[in-house]
Amino acid sequence: MVDMDTLVSLCKRRGFIFQSSEIYGGFGSAWDYGPLGVELKRNIKNVWWRDLVQNREDIVGLDASILMSPRVWIASGHVEKFTDPLVDCKSCKRRFKADQVGDRCPECDGELTEARQFNTMFKTFVGPVEDEASVAYLRPETAQGIFVNFLNVQSATRRKLPFGIAQIGKAFRNEITPGNFTFRTREFEQMELEYFVKPGTDEEWFDYWLEERLSWYKRYGIREGNLHLREHGPEELSHYSKRTCDIEYNFPFGWSELEGIANRTDFDLHRHAEFSGKDMTYFDEETGERIYPYVIEPSGGIDRAALAFLVDAHHEEEVRGRKRVLLRLHHDLAPVKVAVLPLLRNRPEIVALAKEIARDLRPHFVVMYDDTASIGRLYRRQDEIGTPYCVTVDVQSLEDRAVTVRERDSMEQVRPPIAELKEMLLDKLAS
Ligand SMILES: [Zn+2]
Repeated sequence: MVDMDTLVSLCKRRGFIFQSSEIYGGFGSAWDYGPLGVELKRNIKNVWWRDLVQNREDIVGLDASILMSPRVWIASGHVEKFTDPLVDCKSCKRRFKADQVGDRCPECDGELTEARQFNTMFKTFVGPVEDEASVAYLRPETAQGIFVNFLNVQSATRRKLPFGIAQIGKAFRNEITPGNFTFRTREFEQMELEYFVKPGTDEEWFDYWLEERLSWYKRYGIREGNLHLREHGPEELSHYSKRTCDIEYNFPFGWSELEGIANRTDFDLHRHAEFSGKDMTYFDEETGERIYPYVIEPSGGIDRAALAFLVDAHHEEEVRGRKRVLLRLHHDLAPVKVAVLPLLRNRPEIVALAKEIARDLRPHFVVMYDDTASIGRLYRRQDEIGTPYCVTVDVQSLEDRAVTVRERDSMEQVRPPIAELKEMLLDKLAS
C-alpha cells in the first residue's frame, strides 16, 4: 500500500490537493482541491447522487442552509452533548483530549487542569451585534437541515414511508486533534441520507443500508479486503443512536471510518416537535394513526471517500525496467477521461489535428490536451493521474485518419479511425 508521504506528494505535484493558505505557512488542517481534486470530488458526489437520488423513486434531494436557527442545535442535543472532555497544560497552554493524556503534559511535562467539556461546534454571530441573542453555529452535520424540513418535503412530494431525503454539503467541527491529511479536518463535506421508515421495520432497513453502502464503495473500485464493518459498543453510541456501524477503510494510518450507518430512531423528529411546538408526525393511511417515523442514516464523508479512492487506486509496477506509477481509478471517478497527445510537438499538422480531436471530444467528457513533453513522459503523467485512455496522433494519422488509443491499466493499444473515436471512447468509458 502507498504511504501517506508519497500520496500527499503526488496530490500536490499533480494538482489534486494543496495545503490551504500555503504561502502563509498553511492553515490548521484545511486543504484546497486543485484542478484534478475538484473533478474527483465532483465525480464522487455525482455518482452518489445518481445512485441514491436519480436512480431511485424512494429518495429525493435537499440543499439546506449552513446557518440555521440556534434552536435547532439545542433541540438536536448538540449544544449540550456535542462536546469533548479536554485538559489544558498550565505551563505551555496546549490543549489535549483528556482520554489521550496521562497526569502530565506530553509536550512539556507541565501540570494539567481538570478535564472540562468543550463544545466542538463553531460559533459565530449573525447581524451587526455580537451578543448572546445573535449567536449562530456553523452546522456540525447536514442531517438537521433534513429533519427540520421533513414536513415540507413530505407534503410537497406526497411521499409515503419508507422514503429518504438526501443531501450533500459542508459541515464544520472544531476538532482538537485533526490530522492524517484530508481525513480529519475542521471543514468537511458530507453526503448524508436520512431514510424514514415505519417503527418496527428500522432494524431490517438498517441491515439493508449497511449492505447497500458497503457494496457502493466496492462498485467504485475499493478492494474488498480494504473494507470492514465496525459495530459501535454501547458506551460509544451517540446520544441519538440505537445502533451505529462504521464502514472502515484500511488507510495507510490504520483502519478508520469512511461512513457511519446509524439508527437515529425517532429522536430527532420528537425533539424538534418538542422544541418547535409543531406536529412532526406522519399520518399512516393504513392504520389511520399519526406516527413518528424511525430514521436510518448512512452518513459518509466525501473528503474521506476521495482519500480512500486515491489510496486504493495507487499502484506501482515495473515496466521494461522502469517504475510505472498509476491510479487505477474507476472510469466514473477519474478526473480526466481522455488525454489527446501529439507524438511530435514540432509538427504543426500533427498538433493541429490533435487539437481538433480534443475540441470535438470535449463536449462529451473531460479531455486534457498535452504537448509539453515527449510521448513517454506524457503517458507517465496520465497514468499518474488515472486517465483511462490516451489518444495519440502521429505522422501516419495525417494519411490514414486513424489514431492510437492506449488503455491505462493494460497499456494495450488499438487504432480506430478518427471518425469512430468518440463512439468507441463513450462505449469504453461506460463499461
Ligand atoms: Zn505543556
